[in-house]
Order: sequence, then C-alpha cells, then structure tokens
Amino acid sequence: MSKIINGKEIAQNLRDQLKQEITNLKTKTGKMPGLAVVQVGNVAASSVYVKAKTKSATEVGIDVIDHHLPEETAQEDLLHIVNKLNNQNNVNGILVQLPLPKHINEQIILDSIHPDKDADGFHPLNVGKLSVASYNDENLLIPCTPYGCLIMLKGLGIDLSGKNAVVIGRSNIVGKPMAQLLLKESCTVTIAHSRTRDIEKICKNADIIVAAVGKPEMVKGDWIKKDAIIIDVGINRIEVEVSGEIKNKLVGDVDFNEASKHSSAITPVPGGVGPMTIACLLRNTMIAFKNKEIDK
Ligand code: NDP
Repeated sequence: MSKIINGKEIAQNLRDQLKQEITNLKTKTGKMPGLAVVQVGNVAASSVYVKAKTKSATEVGIDVIDHHLPEETAQEDLLHIVNKLNNQNNVNGILVQLPLPKHINEQIILDSIHPDKDADGFHPLNVGKLSVASYNDENLLIPCTPYGCLIMLKGLGIDLSGKNAVVIGRSNIVGKPMAQLLLKESCTVTIAHSRTRDIEKICKNADIIVAAVGKPEMVKGDWIKKDAIIIDVGINRIEVEVSGEIKNKLVGDVDFNEASKHSSAITPVPGGVGPMTIACLLRNTMIAFKNKEIDK
C-alpha cells in the first residue's frame, strides 16, 4: 500500500520553521517582512486563495499589505501600483493574484514586479536563475508549487539522483520550473504535454511522476511502474452522485484509488500539494526579506 504524503502536515512544519526564523530576523533587524497582495476583480477562486495566503502570512509574522482593485482597473493603473510597491521599503514580496482580467496582459505585469520582490518566482530573471546551476537555491525566489513538490519528494528521504522523472504539463508556473528543479537534483527528466505521443508508455518508465495537467484523474493505475512516487498537482472540480444527490468533489490529475495500489508514495487531493504552495510563498517572502536586510 502506498504511503500517503501528508501535504498539510509538511506545510505546517514549514510554516512553524518560518515563524521561528522570522521571529529571529525581527530581533536582529527590528523589522518584519512585508508581502503586498494584489487582487484585481472578484474571481471566487482567487478570493479564496488570497484569503488563505493572507491568513497564513499573518500567522507566521509577515505584514500583509492588501490591494483589492476593481475588475475594470486599467493596465496602466495596475502597473503604477506595482511600481509604487517596487519602491516601498516595507514591501519585500509582491504577489499579483492570477488570473488577471482579460484586458490586462499578465506577462507585462509579472515582468514589472522587481525581481528582488517577486514572491511567486515568475519574473524572467528568477526563472533564468533557476536554470543556471551556480545559484544557490537558498537565496532564490522559486515558483511556489513546484518548490513545494520538491520539498515533499526530498522529505521521503530517497536519493533523487539518477531517477527517471516524468513531469506532465509544461506551464511556466508548474511544469517547466518543476522540470528544472528535478534536473538540479540530477533526475533524468522528461516533460510531457498535450502533443506528447505514448504518454502512458513514458509514464510506465518513471520512478517519479509529477502530474500538472488540469484533467481529472487522467493518470491511471496501469500507467504507473511498481513503487513509483506520484505527486499530483491537479485541482479539478467534478460532480459525483452520492446517495442519489449530485455533489462537487475535488480530484487531482491522477486516479488516486488506482494509483495508490501501484505507487510507493502519493500525494492526495486535497491535502497534498495545495498547502505546500502557500507555505512556499511565505518562504519566498522571508527569503526576499533576508536577501535585502541580511545578505546585502
Ligand atoms: P496549464 O493549463 O497552464 O498547463 C497544463 C499543461 O498540461 C499544459 O502544458 C498542457 O500541454 C498539458 N496538457 C493538457 N492536456 C494534456 C494531455 N491530455 N496530456 C498531456 N498533457 C496535457 O495548467 P497549470 O500548470 O497552471 O496547472 C495544472 C493543474 O495544476 C491544474 O489542475 C491547476 O488547477 C493545478 N494547480 C494546482 C496548484 C496547487 O497549489 N495545488 C497550483 C497551480 C496549479 P500544452 O502546453 O501542450 O497545452
């Protein structure tokens, strides 16, 4: 039977460590890290994420500077606000909650965040640094979801070096940085995407599968090599019938019940990768603060 990787517990441990480290940094510097959270519009899922991020940040001792802007905010006005935050001394990290309304070009906004304050790790400079071996991960601002996945993998205490890792999905926020992180750990990495042929066969050869697709339960049990490790990033809402009633259920990109019969360890959805993403956002804010105040 597969070990269920408890993301909630690992994230709680990480938040406890961060809280302690932030307390120490406050004593040393007399300052506290600040995170600006910018939300444009009222997409329900974004409001839930912003609320969760704000709550977790406050709990570990990060000062949250909230900017909730109306849906019709012009791109120029958003750029102006980001620029102001770039120059604001009490702001160490800036998070612009995605997706942005259609009339705003997301990449232009992400590029406008100062790389040193890039709490999500999406700025091209930080993306580039991640792919250059000589930078130390300890000081880097790394995309939160893939970094959370890596922490969970490392927590298993296995040697990642030489393992065949398959990342399904090549998005800028999950798939590609995940592949870079696994490459840094000396895995042999394959990135699969919507044009990949024989994905099932590729997965069958994997010691590690990270699924970040957005397709409910796409990865089946018979795609999985015996004792492989499965990290399921997907969050999909499906409808299921329970006692004659239709209910919403969250599932991942992996068929959990089938996959857990073949794998040696697997993350559940919910309670797997999700909590790690938020914890790693707090980590990035703390690192941005440390880079500015301590390791100048
Ligand atoms: P994107 O939609 O940006 O990327 C999806 C990727 O999956 C693309 O690269 C796409 O390929 C690939 N893909 C689509 N269909 C297939 C297929 N049939 N076979 C193989 N590959 C396919 O999604 P994200 O990376 O943003 O997110 C992925 C999932 O992770 C979503 O469910 C999202 O909700 C979840 N997520 C969860 C987070 C968490 O904290 N747990 C955080 C971020 C995301 P192509 O490039 O060719 O189109």
